[in-house]
Amino acid sequence: MSEPVIIAHGGAWAIPDNLVEAHVNGVREAVATAWRVLEGGGSALDAVEEAVVVMEDDDSFDAGRGSFLNREGKVQLDALLMDGATLRAGGVGCVEHIANPIRAARKVLSESPHIYFVAEGAERFAREHDIPLCPNEDLIIPREVERLRAFQATAAGAQTGLFSPMISHDTVGAVALDRSGNIAAATSTGGTLNKAPGRLGDSSLIGCGCYADNESAAVSTTGWGEPIMKLVLAKWAADRVASGNLPAWVAAEAMNYLKKRVNGHGGIIILSASGRFGLAHNTPRMAWASRTPRELSSGINCVP
Ligand code: ASP
Repeated sequence: MSEPVIIAHGGAWAIPDNLVEAHVNGVREAVATAWRVLEGGGSALDAVEEAVVVMEDDDSFDAGRGSFLNREGKVQLDALLMDGATLRAGGVGCVEHIANPIRAARKVLSESPHIYFVAEGAERFAREHDIPLCPNEDLIIPREVERLRAFQATAAGAQTGLFSPMISHDTVGAVALDRSGNIAAATSTGGTLNKAPGRLGDSSLIGCGCYADNESAAVSTTGWGEPIMKLVLAKWAADRVASGNLPAWVAAEAMNYLKKRVNGHGGIIILSASGRFGLAHNTPRMAWASRTPRELSSGINCVP
């Protein structure tokens, strides 16, 4: 029997003061929901799915409704979850008509011999598995229409600002350990602002934005996706935990490696099957919350 643990993040960037409360409340709510699953004897996989659904439904974050718009003004979503006990994974990419892509990803994991579906095929799979589809407009909020307009109006911004740690990286993710000793990870995103249609980031790629293996660790990342993909960063981190390093140390090292090797920026949460966890970011802030039987913690820019 293990003591359950849940950690959630809601992005890593220069979260402005006026958005701090919404971000911290959002990750705390996600952790509270996942904790009820774990406390009731539910699986780590169910817990991370429920945590991510809460954050997809919260338009403070770049996931589900309220996500960044691509350069054509559409929401295009990616999500993945992974089960550390079996190494089964489920992912969807570039979906435009699913409010909770992590639910579709879970169906892929549980009910398909495949691991990953994209675009129309992913939506068809979702519909066939009772996931409701919605118009893309239902996922768009005025704040994001204005954000895209302002971004596209600044030609210089369109060249460089996209890849600044000051610009939003509000991807969401969670890692959990259940009473049976299994770990799981989930990540969901609307990707980067003004992205090209069809662009897939790190978040929903196995080993990049998300990874889980009971023999190493459960990991979820956020940040500038292309550099994270180049380093296959979640798997890089999990391997270092498997070699005997503490998750807190590995998290800090992962951020150093990301910066030094490819000039990337972002944040990471890591949980081992023994219940040790760590988080780190090389951006000004990162929204996170964690819960163990003894402690509920949350924060915006410090480690637990
Ligand atoms: N990593 C995500 C992507 O590049 C963005 C983010 O974390 O906010 O799609």
